[in-house]
Amino acid sequence: MILEKNVLKKYREAGKIARKVRENVRKFVKEGMAIIEVCEWVEDEIRRLGGQPAFPCNVSINHVAAHYTSPTNDKSIISDRSLVKVDIGVHVDGYIADTAVTICFDPELVFLEETARQALMKGIEIIRPGLSTSEFGSAIQRFIESRGLKPISNLTGHQIDRYLVHAGKSLPNVAHFSLSRIKEGEVFAIEPFVTTRDGAGRVREGPPGNIYRLVKQKSVKDREVNKVLTYIKNHYRTLPFAERWLRKVFPEKILTKSFSKLLKSRILMAYPIFVEVKGKPVAQAEHTVVITKDGCEVLT
Ligand code: MN
Ligand code: MN
Repeated sequence: MILEKNVLKKYREAGKIARKVRENVRKFVKEGMAIIEVCEWVEDEIRRLGGQPAFPCNVSINHVAAHYTSPTNDKSIISDRSLVKVDIGVHVDGYIADTAVTICFDPELVFLEETARQALMKGIEIIRPGLSTSEFGSAIQRFIESRGLKPISNLTGHQIDRYLVHAGKSLPNVAHFSLSRIKEGEVFAIEPFVTTRDGAGRVREGPPGNIYRLVKQKSVKDREVNKVLTYIKNHYRTLPFAERWLRKVFPEKILTKSFSKLLKSRILMAYPIFVEVKGKPVAQAEHTVVITKDGCEVLT
């Protein structure tokens, strides 16, 4: 199925905003800066440019590979000589662009950042209708290993759909068994993650990273909690969100009660952060593409 004109237009709009914010955040992030400052700056820029955040801005540092966003009043800072991944999601009417950049403050790790970026370019070069996701994964793996580094085998790129960041097919960065093939009109986030040769090349779940998502359509008996739930449904639908965002709308006490009840009844899920199994630094690069007749169009 090929995308309708007005759908493609919205994807392109989201992509343009995401690209601008990514290019500017590279200059904005400094050592010693508060992480929350980066998160809020990115999310405000997205809104200022006419989009909505498709998920909370992720700022994942060193061995934290993904899914960290600041909680309210976060005191954590960007440490000196760190490897900072900023992952940005924009949606326009539910059509999502997902992109990430690694900012490297450690001269010894620049090679990691460069390899992630070049692996992404490789992915963009080869992706086309008919390509199997396993052929894609082995090509990315070969490329990263040829640089003497390791891909993270259990973090993958993914198909994107309206209001769904992770839809349908995954796009692993390693060889794997799968019969799934890329089709024209599909939208994918391509995102290789790279670690050093002495890393495990895998991530494990760490503590919750302050990102939530609605996973069950159900209401609860408590009136106050239901109000929070309705707000989440109306504003974020099936997209990830931060508790931080709700602090502007609801008092802290009601939010604490609501999150505890909604998590317990599994109406909400909390994303854990992902950390490299051996604690080695991880670099990431990401673009969103739409598959065309003979290749892809990079949206971001
Ligand atoms: Mn991303
Ligand atoms: Mn992604």
